[in-house]
Amino acid sequence: MAQAPHELPALFHGATVEPEDARSILRHQKDPVYGFSYSLNPYRGCSHGCRYCYVRQYPAQVSGAERGTLHGIGDWGRWIAPKMNAPELLWRERHKLHEQTVFMASATDPYQPIERDLRLTRRCLEVLLRCPTTRVIVHTRAPLILQDLGLLKAFGQRLSVGFSIPTDDDTVRQVTEPDAPPIPTRWSTVERLVGAGLRVNIAAAPLMPMLDPSAFARRAKASGASSVWVGRVGLLPEDPFYALLRQHGWLHILEESYARCVRDAVASAFPDIRRRARREPLPEHRVVLPKRDPSIQPGLFDHAIAG
Ligand code: SF4
Repeated sequence: MAQAPHELPALFHGATVEPEDARSILRHQKDPVYGFSYSLNPYRGCSHGCRYCYVRQYPAQVSGAERGTLHGIGDWGRWIAPKMNAPELLWRERHKLHEQTVFMASATDPYQPIERDLRLTRRCLEVLLRCPTTRVIVHTRAPLILQDLGLLKAFGQRLSVGFSIPTDDDTVRQVTEPDAPPIPTRWSTVERLVGAGLRVNIAAAPLMPMLDPSAFARRAKASGASSVWVGRVGLLPEDPFYALLRQHGWLHILEESYARCVRDAVASAFPDIRRRARREPLPEHRVVLPKRDPSIQPGLFDHAIAG
């Protein structure tokens, strides 16, 4: 198993590093429609700092509470809380995972830059590899995933990769996800993952402005990805992201007709998805924010896709 580093930087890529010991590492997803039974987040916070990220709302409620340093929504992307005991906790909780599916990660990107040094995601994967009946979905938008290619391949058919590509336009990405990897790099990463024999599903979610949805869908097909999921963005109450959309003339992405247009393009490129979707409708994005225990980290599809 890879070793944990002994020293952590106080700052990483401009984000403060706030290591913590988590109380638990597996979050049960009760609703079977989502296709996984547990989510696993080796980190809280995410230095990709996507401007629309649904997790932005939680830091003020949770992060740093035990140390008395609360983060506001404006801090999103500027702090990372690595769960330093994540692999050990997972090892202790692995008895829950017999014939279960684990989704990593629902509220952070498991391959954000600090993973290059900390290897928490890798060490969690090493635990999961030793759970032979457990299926794994790794979701990211970062080419750093390629550093674990050999490990990912060792899972065989019980692992798939979800890869976020919400737009075909890197100038949009520079506005909406300024600290996340460029779009061309994501396509080449998908191709390398597929070339290594991994099953990759693209998430065009939350859906951002596109130059040419049909070309996007054809590009996805050509990459070798197995599917594309299109999910609409959800806004928080008085969300500053709304002002950003208005400023750039992108409010059309909030309309169902825009999502339908992209879904139609995807369905043309992936006719097998169209058939599957008729049998098993994918979950619609939920905009309404439920009340919850602030000590519990949010889960995927509570609001939108992360990673
Ligand atoms: S959407 Fe994903 S990659 Fe972007 S900031 Fe949120 S958790 Fe990180």
